[in-house]
Amino acid sequence: MREVAVFIAPCLYDSNKSFVSGLQKNEISVTRFDVYADKKEGNPYLEAVKKHNKIVAESPEGGFSQFKGCSNHDAIEDYNFLCIAIEDSTRGVTRAHSSGMCVIGIGSNEIELNRLMSQGAHAVAKSISDVLQMFKIHNYYQVQYLPYAIYLRDIVNRKVGYPVSLLDTLRGRFMIVPPETDDDGIADIDQELDDLSISLDQSERKVELNNGANRIIPREVLGIEPGSLADVYINNVGWPQDKINNIHFNSRGLEMDCIRMFAKLYEISYDEMRGFLTSGGTEGNFCGLWWQRDYLKRKSGGRDPIILTSNLSHYSVSKACQQLCIEGRLISTLPDGSMNCEELERTLISISESEPERPILMQVNIGTTMTGAIDDLPAIHSLLVKHVSNRGGIFTVHMDAALTGAILPIIKPFGDNINYFRDFNVKTIAISGHKFFGSVCICGVLLACSEFLEECFNQQEVGVKYLTGLHDITPSGSRSGFNVLSFHNTLCGLYCHTDARRLKDVVAHCIRNTDYFVERMSELVGEEKMIHPLFSLQVCFPRPSEKMMQKYSLMPVTMPDRDDVEFAGVCILINVDKTRIDEFMVDYKKDEVAKTFLK
Ligand SMILES: *Cc1c(COP(=O)(O)O)cnc(C)c1O
Repeated sequence: MREVAVFIAPCLYDSNKSFVSGLQKNEISVTRFDVYADKKEGNPYLEAVKKHNKIVAESPEGGFSQFKGCSNHDAIEDYNFLCIAIEDSTRGVTRAHSSGMCVIGIGSNEIELNRLMSQGAHAVAKSISDVLQMFKIHNYYQVQYLPYAIYLRDIVNRKVGYPVSLLDTLRGRFMIVPPETDDDGIADIDQELDDLSISLDQSERKVELNNGANRIIPREVLGIEPGSLADVYINNVGWPQDKINNIHFNSRGLEMDCIRMFAKLYEISYDEMRGFLTSGGTEGNFCGLWWQRDYLKRKSGGRDPIILTSNLSHYSVSKACQQLCIEGRLISTLPDGSMNCEELERTLISISESEPERPILMQVNIGTTMTGAIDDLPAIHSLLVKHVSNRGGIFTVHMDAALTGAILPIIKPFGDNINYFRDFNVKTIAISGHKFFGSVCICGVLLACSEFLEECFNQQEVGVKYLTGLHDITPSGSRSGFNVLSFHNTLCGLYCHTDARRLKDVVAHCIRNTDYFVERMSELVGEEKMIHPLFSLQVCFPRPSEKMMQKYSLMPVTMPDRDDVEFAGVCILINVDKTRIDEFMVDYKKDEVAKTFLK
């Protein structure tokens, strides 16, 4: 879990019991805690922190110097530092501010609040509960998002560097007075646009420093609340773990935290795993194949690798191969949609005979788009060892686990205690954030074996240029930092930062309902007319009428060796329950096309 440094000086602890109970529930991890000048026995904050957290920086004075990484520079690099300064901690606020922390001042009356504000607090409130309410914080892990809401806004107001205009975000100095309203109270929108076209200098004369919602480009219609996290500029350009960083408006710390949660979920140590948040499964596939192409080429003295992928792989794989000029062989599939290992073996033998030194890039599907079939990775790995490594060749494996990557470590289709990197020579795993996880922000994650990445991007060997001060090994350049917050919130909401108990519950719910769907559908059409691969949450059955396809957003499915039947597919996720399945079955039974398939 991401660390939140909380600084609480002479405390109003009695009025903030909820904060303590959050600590006790271990939902917020406070690893740096400064009890500035208050060592009174029985201080409940201190007790709670001591009991539930590992590190306690206890120092009567100058506590910040003990916070690792809290020099001016580092704090900016790593700034989800939160300082909650209470009442007469004058020096505390000033120091925290100059250390680059986000400072929330707590004071009991107006005079105190004004004083804290003038000392540099980014926000003030009368109690911690007020802070939580003000920022709509419902769970304690969300406390770590506060600095983004407050501190980033503060940077926006001071920024003169880096060529981003922040036009969307500007407020305060450039704020425009609301347009005059007509008699009926509706703003004259055209008039407002005319005003804008005058020039900023002129509009500045109309400025009112009320810190309200008005701005050059109003966005309330999009549901974006002024001052909310969706309202600040957050750009995670580059590789999240890169020390060098030109952009202060970033949430890279939380991005690394997402990778940490995946490491936990996959039971792989964080040292062994690297990664970043992608724009989705497609970028993950592209990047995984890109890195592996270059790695294999370098490892094999300049030979172009050949990719082996099944004929049911997602089209993003062939698209990436085109972009990256990787030659490929399509391997046929079994009736359930998983890779045909017999054909894979024949292909491997034929390559080893004709081009024994050709490196192999193996792409496996952990859940195909059409049927959710999982390729038999242990069997594929054995074949690769037998026909590639044992004959002196090299291979690597990329896993496309767009949807199933979320549940793979829970359903464990290949058995317990599996480390994909170590046991199957997997180098990268691409997962979508908006499929099983259901993030409304379109995003994904690419997990990579850290040893592989180090070899891949060894600075001397590859000669990466640090011209711009950025060591960017991601495909895209600027990346959404808000997506990171959103996905982080999703992961924590599923308790991936602790024991993933809610994710496990969700998975169990989906499996139960998938079983129920299979049972009901096989009563109607019979199992032989259905496709339901082992461990899949997807079920295919004879395609009903177009009307029904539309009504239930069914996926049209065509299987390579089944051109006799047209299928439709469902994916039973958390939004589907037994009632909906029952309704579906009633409709299916009545459907004029589906009727012809009934037993
Ligand atoms: C959806 C999907 C992708 C692409 O993911 P996006 O997040 O849509 O880019 C890749 N592979 C498989 C198997 C998929 O189902």
